[in-house]
Amino acid sequence: MAYDVVVIGTGPGGYVCAIRAAQLGLKTAVVEKDKTFGGTCLNVGCIPSKALLHASHLFEEAAEDFDKMGIKLSAPKLDLSQMMKFKQEGVDGNVKGVDFLFKKNKVDAYIGKGKIAAPGKVEVSTGNGKTETIETKAIVIATGSDVARLPGIEIDEKRVVSSTGALELSKVPERLFVVGAGVIGLELGSVWRRLGSKVEVVEFLDRIIPGMDGEIARAFQRILEKQGIKFRLSSKVAAIDAKGKTLKISVEPAAGGKAETLEADVALVAIGRVPYTEGLGLAEAGVKLDNKKRVIVDDRFKTNVQGIYAIGDVIAGPMLAHKAEDEGIAAAEILAGRAGIVNHDAIPNVIYTSPEVASVGKTEEELKSEGVAYRVGKFPFTANGRAKVNRTTEGFVKILADDKTDRVLGVHIIGADAGTLIAEVTLAMEFGASAEDIARTCHAHPTLSEAVKEAALAVDKRAIHM
Ligand SMILES: Cc1cc2nc3c(=O)[nH]c(=O)nc-3n(C[C@H](O)[C@H](O)[C@H](O)COP(=O)(O)OP(=O)(O)OC[C@H]3O[C@@H](n4cnc5c(N)ncnc54)[C@H](O)[C@@H]3O)c2cc1C
Repeated sequence: MAYDVVVIGTGPGGYVCAIRAAQLGLKTAVVEKDKTFGGTCLNVGCIPSKALLHASHLFEEAAEDFDKMGIKLSAPKLDLSQMMKFKQEGVDGNVKGVDFLFKKNKVDAYIGKGKIAAPGKVEVSTGNGKTETIETKAIVIATGSDVARLPGIEIDEKRVVSSTGALELSKVPERLFVVGAGVIGLELGSVWRRLGSKVEVVEFLDRIIPGMDGEIARAFQRILEKQGIKFRLSSKVAAIDAKGKTLKISVEPAAGGKAETLEADVALVAIGRVPYTEGLGLAEAGVKLDNKKRVIVDDRFKTNVQGIYAIGDVIAGPMLAHKAEDEGIAAAEILAGRAGIVNHDAIPNVIYTSPEVASVGKTEEELKSEGVAYRVGKFPFTANGRAKVNRTTEGFVKILADDKTDRVLGVHIIGADAGTLIAEVTLAMEFGASAEDIARTCHAHPTLSEAVKEAALAVDKRAIHM
C-alpha cells in the first residue's frame, strides 16, 4: 500500500499532523513504537502532570482555604493510590481519544519502531525480528524528545527519577530533591510539596525558569519560597550516591568550589529534554542535524532530504505540545499544497503551578538586548475585584509595548488562571494589536481578565483601579 504521508510518532505533533493530512484527503499512516498513542504529552507529560497538579492543588485548598470560606471539613487525608488512579484515568481517556480520531479520519496505524530506509520508504519493526516496509510520497518525523540525563547519574525511576518516575511515586517522599528550576521541576516539585514532601531545588543558573521574563521569575521564586520550596541557585549536582538508605547528593557551586553533601529520599532530575532520533536511520538517509542533535528544517518543515519533513520537539524551538501541534497542522497543509504557517513569535508558555505563570512574545531582557524602545504597563491582582473576593491576589500582569507604535511585543502574567488569560493576548499579538486595542476592548466584570485590560491601560499610564 502506498501512502501520501507517513508520520513517525504519534505525540501531539504527529497525531495532529496525521489527522489534518487525512482531512485534506491525503492517504495517511502513522508509526508508533509505544503501546499507546499520544507521545510524551498524553502519556508521561502534560496530561498526567496536570492531573496531579489539579488533584494536589485541591488537596491543599481543602486543608488550608475551605475553612476560611466557611466550609467545615475534617483535615483531608491523602489516598495516593487513588490519586494515581485518577491521573491514569485521565491519561487513558485522552489516549483512547487519539485512537478514535485515527479511526474516524481513516488514518492507518502501524505499531512498531519506524526507521527511514530511504526517502519514500519507512521500515517498521513489528516485533520478533519482523519488519514491514511502507511506501510513501512524504515522511514526517515527529519522534519528539527524551529526558536529558546528567553524566554519571543513573536514573532508576524509583529513587533517582526523571519526570516519568516523579509521576508514579508510590509514596510521598519525605525529602524530594529537584535538579533544575525549569517548568517540569517546579511543577512536579509543587505537586509533591503539596502532598507533604520537603522540596529543595538546585539550579545551575543564578535564576529560576531560564528564558522567562526576569521580573516574573523573581516574583515567582518569592512565592514558591513562601510556599516552602527551598532554592539553591548557581549550584550544580556533581554526584548522587544511591547506595545507602537515603540518597547522598553532592552539590557544589556552579563556578566550582567546595562540595556539600545533602540527603534526600528521592531526587528528580529535571534538567531538560533532548531530541529523540535513536534508530531512525537519519545518518544513513543523509538528514542533517544541528549541534543540539535537532533535525534541521526550513520554514516549511522540510529537511535537507527531498520528501522528508520534521516537526515538534525533534526540531528547534520551545519543546511545547501546542507548538508541535501547530507545526503538525502546517506541515500537513504544506504537503497538501496549501500555505501552512506557524508564527513562532506568538507561542504561549505556561507553568501550571499555583499561581500559574504564563508568557508570550518578548521578555524585557530580550527587548533590551535587541535595543528596542518599549513601554511597560503593569497591573497587580491585588487591585482586581475578582481576585480580591477569590483571595487569589498574588501576582501581576505585565505588558510590553513598542514605544512608538504601541504594538504589543510581549505579555507576562503571574497569577491565578494565567494560562487561560494568556490566550487573549496571544490572539491580540497574532492580529498585531496595540496596547490601546486591548485597553479599548470591553472585558467582562468581575473577571481576572480585567487585570489584562488594566495593564494595557497602564502602558499609557491610565489604569483606573490603581
Ligand atoms: C512532565 C512533562 C510535562 C509537560 N507538560 C507540558 C505542558 O503542560 N504543556 C506543553 O505544551 N508541553 C508540556 N510538555 C512537553 C510536551 O510533552 C512536548 O513538547 C510534546 O509532547 C512534544 O510533542 P511531539 O509530538 O514533538 O513528541 P512526543 O510527544 O515526544 O511524541 C513522540 C512520539 O514518537 C514516538 N517515536 C519516537 N521514535 C519513534 C520511532 N522510531 N518509531 C515510532 N515511533 C517513534 C514516541 O514513542 C512518541 O510517542 C511536558 C513534558 C513533560 C515531560
